[in-house]
Amino acid sequence: MSPSPRRSETLIDLRGGFPRAGLVQRQAALQGIARNTQAIWSVDFTQSLEHVVTSLLSIASPELEWTDLHSLPLTDRHAMVRAVWLLDGGGPARAEAECHECGEWVEFELDLRSIPVPGGCDVLTVHRNEEERACCLPTPLVTEAANDGVDVAAACLQCSREEAEPWVDAVEEALSQNDLLGEILLVGPCVSCGRTLQTEFDLKSAWAAWMRGIVRRLMADVHTLARNYHWSEDEILRIPEARRAVYLNFCDVEEPVEA
Ligand SMILES: [Zn+2]
Repeated sequence: MSPSPRRSETLIDLRGGFPRAGLVQRQAALQGIARNTQAIWSVDFTQSLEHVVTSLLSIASPELEWTDLHSLPLTDRHAMVRAVWLLDGGGPARAEAECHECGEWVEFELDLRSIPVPGGCDVLTVHRNEEERACCLPTPLVTEAANDGVDVAAACLQCSREEAEPWVDAVEEALSQNDLLGEILLVGPCVSCGRTLQTEFDLKSAWAAWMRGIVRRLMADVHTLARNYHWSEDEILRIPEARRAVYLNFCDVEEPVEA
């Protein structure tokens, strides 16, 4: 693979963090991954979305362990996904909405850089009536083990389901205010009738789909070369990218060899 002269890299602040030598490290260095097709190739995209995201983040942040990344608060993970997305030139959030008034489809876009990430520590204070409680930010370990919002609230408040039940709305409100990248809502007028429309953009799903697309294209290239040259998958993947592209060009201009 040809080395890129200047690797895109960024450093982001974390609300959670990683235990390192008795301290908590609250910064993570991230690099773009879209050109690292060999590494993306090794990701198992049949796993749950959070697992896929952790595996992709571990490519973007090779100094961090998979288990560290998987136990980070969702807010941090979403901030990391955005950072890598932007490093790779992912562009704005785009989503379509159908107007139920006139049937028009409208595409909205939003600059992901404009979405603030609230700072602070990884424990929030939630209020309900006169009471307040400490609330931890959820991690994938929490959401994957939860059956519903009550389970999430109980894990975040570190109490029983019974105790958490009346707090669910307060916890959900606090968490969504602290995780603006988790649910990105695009709002704007219908171009035909002016009605206000809204639609959601799921950053993590969009990122996973983009990376899965890169693997699919590489698979198509492997398929073409295997058909033409009868090389194994391993052999094809070991060919430097630039040379692979030249072979693919030959396959384009020549009659395909029948297997
Ligand atoms: Zn309309």
